[in-house]
Amino acid sequence: MKWPREVLTLLNELEQAGFEAWAVGGCVRDRLLGRTPADWDLCTNARPEDLRRIFAGRPLVLTGVKHGTVGVAAGGGVYEITTYRTEKDYRDRRHPSQVHFVDRLEEDLARRDFTVNAMACHPRRGLRDPFGGRADLRGQQIRCVGDAKTRFSEDALRILRGLRLAAQLDFSIEDETLAAMTACRSLLTRISAERLYGELTRLLCGPAAGRVLAGCGDILVPVIPELAPCIGLEQHSIHHDRDVYGHMAAAVAFAPADPNVRWAAFLHDVGKPGCLSLDAEGAGHFYGHNERGAQLVQKILTRLHAPKSRIARVSQLVRMHDMALPATPQGVRRWLRRLDETGLMQLAALRRADLTAHACTPWVKQRLAQLDAFVETARAQLAAGACYRLDMLAVNGRDVIEAGAVPGPEVGRVLNALLDSVIDGEVPNERDALLQRAAYLAHLL
Ligand code: ATP
Ligand code: MG
Repeated sequence: MKWPREVLTLLNELEQAGFEAWAVGGCVRDRLLGRTPADWDLCTNARPEDLRRIFAGRPLVLTGVKHGTVGVAAGGGVYEITTYRTEKDYRDRRHPSQVHFVDRLEEDLARRDFTVNAMACHPRRGLRDPFGGRADLRGQQIRCVGDAKTRFSEDALRILRGLRLAAQLDFSIEDETLAAMTACRSLLTRISAERLYGELTRLLCGPAAGRVLAGCGDILVPVIPELAPCIGLEQHSIHHDRDVYGHMAAAVAFAPADPNVRWAAFLHDVGKPGCLSLDAEGAGHFYGHNERGAQLVQKILTRLHAPKSRIARVSQLVRMHDMALPATPQGVRRWLRRLDETGLMQLAALRRADLTAHACTPWVKQRLAQLDAFVETARAQLAAGACYRLDMLAVNGRDVIEAGAVPGPEVGRVLNALLDSVIDGEVPNERDALLQRAAYLAHLL
């Protein structure tokens, strides 16, 4: 794979100034895998003050300079150049309290988390791979650099980074590394919510997320304790051949890589524990679990400092994931009003993932057929330009006031009532008909 011209230029400028410099980390890994690197990070024996001098003519990003990182603008992007360093004394188990600059590349590579992330590469000097990263890429496995327990005790976020990488690359986790992830999992409670949420979201969106999640429920429990009672919880149903946790992990595998849908798939039955009742035939029912699940999702994602829009959407999807799907165009328009087009398609994707993760019984097949019909009706309604939002009405607030509504809250009430009538097919979405209806409603509401 070709080296980006900007990277070659930066390496060259550093070498011209008498220093050595390498591409390092994720870009080396991705290059060896034949993937296009998301970004190129460089490392060098030049110190931050040298970097500021060498690149004085360019815009610099200096927010990471304390840790030895200088961002250099080149070719429309920003490249991070980091001085060789080690990290000592991890007091809060996340932020190394001291950064020690070092002179040798190998020492810098040794501080990195996984062998596949601990390689450096140079256009003329080739690959530096002191920890067997290339062999692990071939063997498709995630392995810590050095003693896994020590590395996770230094920084527990690495546990989630390792799971995330396995999910993104579809790699397995080497035995000792996996055992150390389990042994050190309780340290995850010390990591900031934002970082946990970021890594979990990337994990969930990885192509192999379903498989990785299926194998790591116990590791995630300190981050999401609500999962604990789902692990091993029997469903007592011929439609299920997995426990509740296993079913949710499987649903992730069948969901599109949209973070809202993946999060919803992973938590969709989190409300089941505590709701199980068995009927006379011994079949399990989980009454009220959707509402309980939606509330738990709200709690979990709030605790993880997820964005408000994500919290709202994922809990809505979980609340609605099991509701009977409307079969008529009118019913579909009502759902469009509640969910909008994006939300409705996310709900359909979640439902499909959920059903596909079930055992393949006639009841499940029938539910899939209902889902197909629902999606088809929704597509037809959207293609026909069906009205399901206030701004799609053929009249606006001013029109409604002219028709007799008192300016103020009544305008909203009339518009909403008009939208209900259009959605229910009582009035066509046409100006004259709507104005007539508005005049009638204005006296009524
Ligand atoms: P991505 O493609 O997601 O950017 P990446 O490997 O580049 O993957 P970054 O988070 O950008 O991941 O980190 C860059 C490099 O820094 C990693 O490849 C790894 O060598 C090192 N690194 C990052 N975080 C840690 C950590 N917590 N502990 C040790 N090394 C780390
Ligand atoms: Mg990176």
